[in-house]
Amino acid sequence: MQISAKISHFHGVGIPFEVCEMPITATPNDVLVRVSLATICGSDLHTVSGRRGAETPCVLGHEIVGTIAAPTRRRSATGETLHEGDRITWSMTACCGTCDYCVNRNLPQKCETMFKYGHARNAGDSILSGGFASHILLRPGTAIYRLPDAVTDKEAVPINCALTTVVNGLETIGLQAGETAVIHGAGMLGIYAACYLREKGYRCVAVVDTNAGRLEIAKRFGATHTFNPNDKSVAEIDTALKELTNGRGADLGVEVSGATIGIPNLITWLGIGGRCLTLGYVYPNADISVDAHQIVTKCIVLRGVHNYHHTSLGHALGFVAETRTRYPFGELIGKTYPLSDINTAFVDAMNQEALRIAISS
Ligand SMILES: [Zn+2]
Ligand SMILES: [Zn+2]
Repeated sequence: MQISAKISHFHGVGIPFEVCEMPITATPNDVLVRVSLATICGSDLHTVSGRRGAETPCVLGHEIVGTIAAPTRRRSATGETLHEGDRITWSMTACCGTCDYCVNRNLPQKCETMFKYGHARNAGDSILSGGFASHILLRPGTAIYRLPDAVTDKEAVPINCALTTVVNGLETIGLQAGETAVIHGAGMLGIYAACYLREKGYRCVAVVDTNAGRLEIAKRFGATHTFNPNDKSVAEIDTALKELTNGRGADLGVEVSGATIGIPNLITWLGIGGRCLTLGYVYPNADISVDAHQIVTKCIVLRGVHNYHHTSLGHALGFVAETRTRYPFGELIGKTYPLSDINTAFVDAMNQEALRIAISS
């Protein structure tokens, strides 16, 4: 099957996106997807601002939902046959399934030949690999999930990056109902972490951010307490958290702000035996300074998680399907721009007009 796809090329920092058309041939061994909606993730902003490098030209965008656009022999992650017209989401990375990371280390997201959608130079066999386009081709080793009919595109679109990263991180560090958590950062990951922890039985979920508007959103998504460092010092937040925990300090810290003060603050706020999960530093040279004496004397576990294990995507999708009537996930997506206005969309996203700005071709 031959189609003409519309794509946007990122050529480098300070250069406007170029929207162009290219012919694509798909066979039944491929999964050709018509992109319904894609959102601008914080990682896309890091790339466009030059905070982290990218090989160009590249089609950005990895938070995507779409519809299968041609017959395929491939199957879903749960073994179902896939049909033209199926609404789907898929893992942000494709893995080989045979290397040491895939087989022995339970880290398929760090596969030796891992491919990451929306991050690759647009050349050779990686054409149509980003979401800011009319179509995308899904390669072997991608975990594909059909979307439940009830879950809308807006509810679904950030699942395959933001939510699944949170779910996999929290599954990795381990959860315990009744605990107290403190989340550093009320961006998309922090908001998802708040509602996920509440649904997992966390008694107190405190969210810390300097953006008062985002703290209000966090309250609608399960935060039991919010703290703004513009109003309260680190020591005052520490005192407040200790009052909530009989003087112990928080059990779980989640760093999703990407600010280098995040881990030092969380190490301060955690109690003895506390666990600290960090997902936020997806750019290089995020140097931090902590009093490691606290890590030792409080027996703190510090754990980083990058990308995610593809099985967590199924769990994340189930979470949204089950809780979508309790949390207004769709409202986390702000304005939707046509692909032809991608440059304006990125300006809005940079200005943090909303937690997510969407693009639809
Ligand atoms: Zn992302
Ligand atoms: Zn592998």
